[in-house]
Amino acid sequence: MAEVEWLQEQGFKVNPDTAHHQGVDEVVRRCRWWEDRREALDYEIDGVVVKVDEKALWGELGVVGREPRWAIAWKFAPTTATTTMKKVVWNVGRTGHLVPFAMLEPVHVGGVTVSTATLHNEEDLARKDVRDGDEVVVMRAGDVIPQVVSPKLPRKNKSARKPKPPRKCPACGTPTVKPEGGVWTICPNRSGCPEQAWQHVKHFVSKGAMDIEGLGEKQAAVFLDLGLITDVADIYDLTEERLVEVDRFGETSARNLVAAIDQSRRRPFKRVLYALGLPGVGYVTAEALADHFGDIDLLYDADPDAIAEVEGVGPIMAEQITESIRDDATWDLVKKLKEKGLQFKVDPSEQRATGGPLEGKTVVLTGSLPALTRGRAEALVKDAGGKIVNSVSKKTDYVVAGEKPGSKLEKAEKYGTEILDEAGLKALVAQ
Ligand SMILES: [Zn+2]
Repeated sequence: MAEVEWLQEQGFKVNPDTAHHQGVDEVVRRCRWWEDRREALDYEIDGVVVKVDEKALWGELGVVGREPRWAIAWKFAPTTATTTMKKVVWNVGRTGHLVPFAMLEPVHVGGVTVSTATLHNEEDLARKDVRDGDEVVVMRAGDVIPQVVSPKLPRKNKSARKPKPPRKCPACGTPTVKPEGGVWTICPNRSGCPEQAWQHVKHFVSKGAMDIEGLGEKQAAVFLDLGLITDVADIYDLTEERLVEVDRFGETSARNLVAAIDQSRRRPFKRVLYALGLPGVGYVTAEALADHFGDIDLLYDADPDAIAEVEGVGPIMAEQITESIRDDATWDLVKKLKEKGLQFKVDPSEQRATGGPLEGKTVVLTGSLPALTRGRAEALVKDAGGKIVNSVSKKTDYVVAGEKPGSKLEKAEKYGTEILDEAGLKALVAQ
């Protein structure tokens, strides 16, 4: 440690998470700690170096080949591997987008065996230029879906053709279209394509969305197959009597499911908005939109410029949101779901305090504060009418930095965002 400290004093950049540990158990714990947060770092690492800081021991420990025993690398499981891509196949997403993914010869990567990997979209596929039969590099990091990084060139089969999206939807056979200026080929059969319906139901009932327990992807497929539901709005018409007719559905599970469905009517507007599954609107964006507009009708009426004022929404996404919310299929569904009693307005009891010193301001918290817990600091900001966001952007008003603030502080410095410490935050909310 002493040397690291000396280097730091001389002005060298030293990793702030370098630490001193006693004994093997502590070292192992620390290495695991690093591996756990690997994905959260904004730089890539493939392991950690463990060094003995007692120089007197170096000679005693010695060197094997070129590798000193007093400086050992703890390597993490590799996150890339090479394998053969058998072919590209196309999935239909919940909004009809045809999503390419790769069927692979099974390969061990990042601690699991992988046989499919995503290629994201047509543009990505074209940019990477992977073709059926190619040797490809596959990457898997954390819980992220494995992806094809690149082909290994030169390719063995020189005549392999570039994969193209299918002319007909693989799920319903409807001729596919590629809207002008779009990056996706889509199945335009929004109301009749079974795959789109299934994907949407799956998303709609998932944890971050309506969170309907007892209605998973298997049940969704069964209900759609049986014609019990044709879209997500039909879920709210399911009754115990109808459910017990379904194979393997007992009275108890039917009763529980109906209760869970009923309960989901109380999910807040932001989750309903997320559950709608508008293209590009993930949970964070849905929450920001719900917070900003407070009512689906106001979001419907908003033009793209107004939507682009929302934290985290750029002009292109704003256009896309306007287009998809005003789409007949979407708006018809909204109307149906409103009739079923879902929340399309922010509940006033959930609204942030108004008239406080931080009204309309966004605040990022980073690092640990000397006295306030994170929860307490968030409550202070919210009570003062402010909003907590997770990442620093040009639109962020304040960054409150404690000890070990990390990259958020650097970003704040780059953007010239006002930086506060705990005392500064307290003074601000007390105004
Ligand atoms: Zn289709």
